Amino acid sequence: MTPLEQEIAAMIAQEGPMSLERFMSLAALHAQHGYYKSKVPIGVRGDFTTAPEIHQMFGELIGLWAAEVWHALGAPAHVHLIELGPGRGTLMADVLRAARIVPEFRRALDVHLVEASETLMSEQRRALGGEDISVTWHGDIEALPSGQAIILANEFFDALPVRHYMRGRDGWHERLVGLNERGEFCFGLAPGAEALAAGDVQEGAILEIGIVAQRMMSRLADYVASECGALLAIDYGYAEKQMGETLQAVRGHAYTDPLQAPGESDLSVHVDFPALANAARAAGASVYGPVTQGIFLARLGIAPRAEVLKRNADAAQAAAVDAALARLALPGPVTGPNASMADLFKALAVTAPGFPVPPGFEADAARVAP
Ligand code: SAH
Repeated sequence: MTPLEQEIAAMIAQEGPMSLERFMSLAALHAQHGYYKSKVPIGVRGDFTTAPEIHQMFGELIGLWAAEVWHALGAPAHVHLIELGPGRGTLMADVLRAARIVPEFRRALDVHLVEASETLMSEQRRALGGEDISVTWHGDIEALPSGQAIILANEFFDALPVRHYMRGRDGWHERLVGLNERGEFCFGLAPGAEALAAGDVQEGAILEIGIVAQRMMSRLADYVASECGALLAIDYGYAEKQMGETLQAVRGHAYTDPLQAPGESDLSVHVDFPALANAARAAGASVYGPVTQGIFLARLGIAPRAEVLKRNADAAQAAAVDAALARLALPGPVTGPNASMADLFKALAVTAPGFPVPPGFEADAARVAP
């Protein structure tokens, strides 16, 4: 048993079964043993890889997206560039490099990183060490400064904890994490039933609700709407509301049991984009998308960008550009080490009301609810 397993098992033994939300929070953020507190999860030697780690094209296109948004804001002399969960700092480093082609934009920036992990903070410090731009770290979004802002979040919302509910005859029962007779973590159901607005569904159906993510989006949308700015969230997730659970644990690039060895694997869920969009709209912001990452990157010009990079590349580099283009933006295998991110991942933009349609969302703007 790991120290965190022992600690959680002792809590359950003392206080009874806990919500999945609490279990996931402890697994991710426990002060000493939480996954994001003690591991460097991302990269070939970590547990998973993310789009910015696949190729610099991804971050560069996001950098140009941010520059266009800054233009649409009226090219202000100061704008906060905020990133939520910046991982190893790769995305921000690529964004700032791409921003060099719009020097006025780059001069307007100060960078704010929201990061819960000390380990990743030091990686970010290393990645951004050579930049002549002020970088400030924040433990959570409540500490963000006021003022116009462009907010980026890649694979951030999937890491936030969720609750599960199962439909019983008499209503919805929250799924809790308890201990079985062998002392292992197992799922059980809360005895009391709750009423949830989930429509007419079959007994036994499971509903996954990301209240933490919705609350966070609500705060961010309020910020973006009142301070004037825009947010871009990219993540794996679904574009239409669905029943069922998507909780997954990944360790060493392979799936494992989410209840086993908390803190040792990355727990995540597929992001409920309709719920995030609703939370943002309810907070008074305009919402665009979600569109698939494939379409979004195609609209931002990933194919011509890849061609330019290949012109100055040797054969191995050109092959790497092609492989990255395929993985990031072209339809392809849905599983395996080269699984395509094009359809599984989605992009969602949230802006102040009255803001022009952000790049990459043009053709969808017509079907966006007011
Ligand atoms: N955006 C990066 C990393 C994704 S991993 C990339 O694309 O490579 C998720 C990131 O979110 C990590 O940096 C993790 O430490 C951070 N994180 C997870 N939960 C968080 C929370 N509740 N508050 C702040 N940061 C969090």
